[in-house]
Amino acid sequence: MVLVFIDQAAGHIKKSSFEAASYAAKVAELTGTTAEAIILGTVADDLSQLGNYGITKVHTVADASLNNFDAQVYTKIITAAAENADVIVFSQNTTGKAVAPRLSVRLKAGLVSGAAALPELSNGFTVKKTVFSGKAFANITVTTAKKIIALNPNAYGVITTGGSAEVVPFNATIDAAKVTVESVDLVKGEVPLGEADIVVSGGRGLKGPENWGMITDLAHLLGAATACSRPVADIHWRPHHEHVGQTGLAIAPNLYIAVGISGAIQHLAGVNRSKTIVVINKDPEAPFFKAADYGIVGDAFEVMPKIIDAVKKL
Ligand code: FAD
Repeated sequence: MVLVFIDQAAGHIKKSSFEAASYAAKVAELTGTTAEAIILGTVADDLSQLGNYGITKVHTVADASLNNFDAQVYTKIITAAAENADVIVFSQNTTGKAVAPRLSVRLKAGLVSGAAALPELSNGFTVKKTVFSGKAFANITVTTAKKIIALNPNAYGVITTGGSAEVVPFNATIDAAKVTVESVDLVKGEVPLGEADIVVSGGRGLKGPENWGMITDLAHLLGAATACSRPVADIHWRPHHEHVGQTGLAIAPNLYIAVGISGAIQHLAGVNRSKTIVVINKDPEAPFFKAADYGIVGDAFEVMPKIIDAVKKL
């Protein structure tokens, strides 16, 4: 059996989990077995919908104490749920990064983090993964009986198959968390950056926080999330949760629009898995143009109002 961990936020399944479910279903098909899922905490969404992504059975532990993520508590439950699993699939997000390595130790299972493709089964169980901040690929052959894969978001895609999953409670021992969450402040009214299809991002070229209206206006029109380079967050023009890159959030949207960002290697490390990159920079020598699918050499203060007007007319 292939087991996929389904991540939720505020009772709703995360977009990246539909992709992980689709991937798990395909791995199950390739290995001649079925795909099941586990989800922790109380969930508002209809879980039988996971059948539409190829999942046959969803195991739930609907305990409110699990609504706040705790790596140790989650790992223990998933370890028990994975008893009969040959392959366990995570999305390579904050939860997956914290739980998959712990699970790997507990189950003595080989782990491929940052997986970029389906396993190749012609000669063992080999998974292609990104290395060196996405600048290269490595092929990892997993030789342990149990195998864990943490899939890079947006590396495989969401595939619907039709169907409905059986939803069953999983009888888990729930340890008391060693860390107590006192409160959670959700950023309201914004598209979550890690899940966004489109991201509009600004750098130091925008000169100051008073000019961020052009970033937020375009983001609003496109239903996009906003992001920024690290110095922009460091000098408090934008909040730190918007900082993308090597030391910030790594994202892989379908469209990343970078405005007034130089494209330093540390910035690229967090955005170079984006499907399409558009760069607006007044310096034709800016390194970001080498990574761009589309580049506009121009002053953001002239180009952005024109783009916003054009999008408004669509
Ligand atoms: P700048 O380098 O100042 O570039 C501004 C750009 O805007 C220039 O290319 C300029 O041509 C352009 N510009 C200026 N005016 C205009 C205009 N009117 N219209 C259009 N374009 C204009 N950075 C990150 O972003 N994320 C990270 O995670 C990160 N981690 C780091 C980790 C380490 C260990 C180190 C050493 C650095 C890290 N950095 C990171 C910093 C990184 O090296 C760069 O300094 C940073 O990304 C530069 O930010 P920027 O492009 O906004 O600013």
